[in-house]
Amino acid sequence: MTEPSPHQEMIDLFSDYYDEELDPVQVANLEAHFDACETCREEYRSFKGSLSLFGGLKEAHVPDDFLKEVTTSINRQSRGTFFKESWIFGLRVPYEAFIALLLVVFGAIYFFGVSNRSTYVVADDEASEMQPGDAPMGRALGAQSHQVQVQVPRSIDLQKVAAALRQAGFATSFDVVESEVAVVANVQSKDLPAFQKALAAAAGDDVQRFDEPTLARHPNLSVRILNGD
Ligand SMILES: [Zn+2]
Repeated sequence: MTEPSPHQEMIDLFSDYYDEELDPVQVANLEAHFDACETCREEYRSFKGSLSLFGGLKEAHVPDDFLKEVTTSINRQSRGTFFKESWIFGLRVPYEAFIALLLVVFGAIYFFGVSNRSTYVVADDEASEMQPGDAPMGRALGAQSHQVQVQVPRSIDLQKVAAALRQAGFATSFDVVESEVAVVANVQSKDLPAFQKALAAAAGDDVQRFDEPTLARHPNLSVRILNGD
């Protein structure tokens, strides 16, 4: 067993000494030790130095136009939904609150998708361009598969659409397509009428009709259902 070195005992007091939380006897002991011990004087100097280093971090400067640039960027990416001009310049919030708000906004963009796109009709992308693993169920798709995108009204909850399709026997998953959340389903052409019926029941008759003659040539369909206007 070794006694703790007297230096270490002093060093252990640095934090409380700095915070002025030592009792007078401890302070007197420590200061007497400083008078006698250059090692501990030097140690304390570097201790204080490291504190002011951290202190400096808190005061890190944010460029004056940081807020404006970020809000402008969000405004652009959300196609004008968030941070309209008047909002940007009227905004005066603490930096931390602003960062928290940013996280919420980015989260909202990610999870709900933000788009004013008005023409999301049935697409005719040949799936031969798809690589296995592109889509959650991509591995199950053969060379004959065909990718279809279907738009449902924005008021329709895609979670409910997915649930209804599952209830009708179609496996569904979620994916993000061009920053929009999409329901993805694999459908065999022969099951298309049942799928269309289940989709219409869940999302209403406004749902874009599939281009059935084209689709009929493809035995496997990868259907992506997105909200749109
Ligand atoms: Zn010492």
